[in-house]
Amino acid sequence: MKNKFLIVFFAIVFSIPFFAGCVGKDFLKKYGTNITNYDIDLNLNENSIDGKQTTNYKNTTSNILNEVYFHLYPNSFSNVAMNKPVSKVYESKAYPNGPSYGKIEIEDVNVENKDASFSVENTDNDSLKVVLASPLYPNDFVSIEMKYTITIPNVLHRFGYNDNTINLGNIYPIVCVFDENGWDKNPYSSNGDPFYSNLANYNVTMTYPKSYTLASTGNQIFSQEENENKTTKVSAVAVRDFAMVLSNKFEILTGVVDGTTINYYFYNDQKSNESFEVAKKALATFNSKFGKYPYSQLSIVETGFLYGGMEYPNLVMISDSLEKYDDYCITIIHEIAHQWWYGVVGNNEFEHGWLDESLAEYSVVVFYENNPEYEIKRDVCIKNAITSYCLFVDVYKDVFDEVDTSMNRKLDQFDTEPEYVYAAYVRGMIMFDDVRNLIGDKKFFDSLKKYYSQYSGQNATPENLFRVFEDVSGKRVRAIFMSYVDGSAIIGNIENGTNQS
Ligand SMILES: [Zn+2]
Repeated sequence: MKNKFLIVFFAIVFSIPFFAGCVGKDFLKKYGTNITNYDIDLNLNENSIDGKQTTNYKNTTSNILNEVYFHLYPNSFSNVAMNKPVSKVYESKAYPNGPSYGKIEIEDVNVENKDASFSVENTDNDSLKVVLASPLYPNDFVSIEMKYTITIPNVLHRFGYNDNTINLGNIYPIVCVFDENGWDKNPYSSNGDPFYSNLANYNVTMTYPKSYTLASTGNQIFSQEENENKTTKVSAVAVRDFAMVLSNKFEILTGVVDGTTINYYFYNDQKSNESFEVAKKALATFNSKFGKYPYSQLSIVETGFLYGGMEYPNLVMISDSLEKYDDYCITIIHEIAHQWWYGVVGNNEFEHGWLDESLAEYSVVVFYENNPEYEIKRDVCIKNAITSYCLFVDVYKDVFDEVDTSMNRKLDQFDTEPEYVYAAYVRGMIMFDDVRNLIGDKKFFDSLKKYYSQYSGQNATPENLFRVFEDVSGKRVRAIFMSYVDGSAIIGNIENGTNQS
């Protein structure tokens, strides 16, 4: 995600424009077979969705499982949620028509076609526990069927409707990750993107008013109109989530980059051709610098969103209300970079939010460096980032007396959104440039390529990243990374007397 504080950071500091393995065709074959599959049938009514879902869940753990947990993210949008998606500071902007609440009600759960015991748990009722009739052994599958109703709130967020669009991110029950710590049931957070999931296949059938156009993850393989409705079938292979945006105002630009069809859905953008060029160049640049984007489709979607944007597999949401066009382009680039860092190489975004955000942010620098026609230079980007970071530290110390500059905190351990943004994005970006200066361009990009290929289709950890950089560079860069991550590295410009940690 890219949020407003980063945009403010760009706006304040950068008066010039910015500143402000197995990947490729083999990927889908290797990771798209013998994995969890979701069959989801959704029917959009006015501000609600009726859903039927069959999850054919594969136990990829080495444990015998007696239950399966799902996240119920829409319940974090309810009036009683403690871990709300919007912080107090943003409430008036996010809810322009006053408070509005969303939820998901689970009506029925079957396991292998038989009634199953289930319960909705966690502080915010954002976790669904389904009890299995018999133990599920490693590598075995179980079919879990459920019915539900989703209420869509009127909010400018990943999940919510607004005057122009309906954003449907994180709406359906998605299986929690079972990792070395057991089931991951972390809650929502107004900081960052509190998500963590494994790759799965999706067959989604969506019925909606025929005046709407549907942008989605995956490939839309079939559409049929009946009376006032349209039904579209979508197939997505080896993706870690599934999201949609609907609008009756969309215009579409379509092109092909390196074999991937790229679609730009927009309604307000007065420079749509330029924006589309930026998106195409971003896809091409990251293909060449990091490794090939393995999917056949990518959608860039202008939408109502209180922040800069949000990433999903094969689909990125870009806010229609960014004040500066440069920020709009930067957001497109940043969110597209998340297809590599979050999409193909995943991570636990609640526990290590900085891991994908700092890589996506540094990818913006890589984009401009490789597309000199935009006249935004790497050294200026980094210098301005350092200046901005020092300014943040100064201001924060003035207001709060002290500042915690560590990056390795869970999302709910950051006191404010600026604290998270400056740690995960700005400090993270400076960190990657520092490592690059130490090991040189070749080893730096070789490291990123190796990290991308080695962890494609998986969830990576900070330790995985450090190890790849050490292996490729032959240098002990882990200590450098750690000094940034644990907050001890000094970032500052001695010339102007600022020398902050
Ligand atoms: Zn991001």
